[in-house]
Amino acid sequence: MSDRKLQIIPLGGLGEFGMNSMALRYGDDIIVIDAGMMFPDAELLGVDIVTPDFAYLEEHRSMVRALLLTHGHEDHIGGIPFLLAQMNIPIYGTDFTLALVERRLEEHDLDKSAVLNRVKAGQKIELGPFVVEFIRVTHSIVSAVAMAITTPLGVVIHTGDFKVDPTPTDNELFDLHTFAEYGKRGVLLLMSDSTNVDRSGYTESERAVRPRMEDIFNRADRRLVISCFSSSIHRLQQILDLSAEFGRKVAFLGRSMNNVTEIAHNLGLLTIPDNILLRPQDIMSAAPGKVCVVVSGTQGEPMSALSRVAVDQHKSLSVERGDTVVLSSRIIPGNEKAIYRMMNHVAKRGADLVYGSMSPPVHVSGHASVEELKLILNLVRPRYFIPLHGEYRQMAKHAALARNLSHAGMEQAFVLETGQTVEIDSRGARMGPKVAVGRICIDSGSLDEVVEDMVIRDRRHLSEDGFVLPIIAINKQTGKAEGLPEIVSRGFVSLEDSVVMMQEARLVVARTLESSSAEERTDWGVMQEKIRADLKRFLTKQTSRRPLIMPVILEV
Ligand SMILES: [Zn+2]
Ligand SMILES: [Zn+2]
Repeated sequence: MSDRKLQIIPLGGLGEFGMNSMALRYGDDIIVIDAGMMFPDAELLGVDIVTPDFAYLEEHRSMVRALLLTHGHEDHIGGIPFLLAQMNIPIYGTDFTLALVERRLEEHDLDKSAVLNRVKAGQKIELGPFVVEFIRVTHSIVSAVAMAITTPLGVVIHTGDFKVDPTPTDNELFDLHTFAEYGKRGVLLLMSDSTNVDRSGYTESERAVRPRMEDIFNRADRRLVISCFSSSIHRLQQILDLSAEFGRKVAFLGRSMNNVTEIAHNLGLLTIPDNILLRPQDIMSAAPGKVCVVVSGTQGEPMSALSRVAVDQHKSLSVERGDTVVLSSRIIPGNEKAIYRMMNHVAKRGADLVYGSMSPPVHVSGHASVEELKLILNLVRPRYFIPLHGEYRQMAKHAALARNLSHAGMEQAFVLETGQTVEIDSRGARMGPKVAVGRICIDSGSLDEVVEDMVIRDRRHLSEDGFVLPIIAINKQTGKAEGLPEIVSRGFVSLEDSVVMMQEARLVVARTLESSSAEERTDWGVMQEKIRADLKRFLTKQTSRRPLIMPVILEV
């Protein structure tokens, strides 16, 4: 036994934002914690989802015992369909987490074959040489857990995402006792969330949002439109409660908003006051002062409900002068441009805007600030420490914080990047070999549209399917297209059999333009995305090929 080693293998999420996944291996047994995704930067043009490359697990497929989930955020569960398509391993998670996973699996027709095991905080399960105890933590999403994993070499604690919220809206408290107990008995390794290591003090409780929200309810005399993450059950509960108090009916807009509220309601995690729900088609006929609309799309995603509302293209809701629009979420780095663009459109409709860093903010972070991070370090008192969930600078700072506490017994903190392993045996811990990791870029969230890497993807598209360049001239004064759009293509289809199709493609682009409002037409970002999506659909249908499509919009 003494020559056996425990390997910590980060598959994603270290030194990058999103797609968290961590494997633990002892001998011939592997368990995986989380399998997230990330939304790509604008520079990954045409890619919709990025997940870790699970090649390491694929290579050791017969050793992988289970996937364990900390909570239901996309950066922890979004990669599951892509992992499961490669290997059907059993999944363990709490009720809400699994319900969100199931919804994702349904979208990919994997729900029938998946093995989902519901666990509760406080429960222990045995997986080969590992005994895993799930420990309740608080976070911006409900039903979040940390894990204490007992291995033959000692206990490993993985915090998942957390803050220490003393007053969560569901009254399910952070289980500090269990952390302390493990600490007392001795912990080999702690891995902890580094997101907010730059923030001093304590992160505010979810309940801190309520008085600020109440203030908005007090001031608004017309329609109230609030956008938040659909998984923010704490936030939704407070919006529902306030709406009931202020005599407003609540309508949910957006597919994810409707799905998730239904799931949470069915699990008893969200209380919906009687007779409060309003059907979307009744929003505009109800008295404006009696309506609260909860909308998905906080990050300015081009096709989301809020983006459509912003340019007045939503069938159920028109924002009018004097309405209040609230963005109750954080701005995920990289999305600033899209969000501000969306907000500019909302402002043009004459709405009052409440968002971002306005004070008081109508959003609180779900991640622990420095004092909470210290608290966990002091309770757990690990021999080794690995910061998780952050960019390199944040993890480095978290490691320095741990070293500075220098409590008895702490030997070393490791700052890792995805793919850099750590090995622990009876003699101690050290950096191990690197394993092959990477990103998988996926178009349109479909399993068979996996593309290996951005560069490869472009190269492949170009070499096999060529490129298509729709060129649209828009008149600055009228906002209308000047003539029929031109389409230039290379390496896509031969000219002889493509004349008719290209003519039709021009009409497709023209129709996209016509069906868009003048305001949308002046927004290049929105138009490029719409044209790309429509043209891609048309060309794929016609040729089952996937050329690189790059709309060019010229103002004339
Ligand atoms: Zn999270
Ligand atoms: Zn996260």
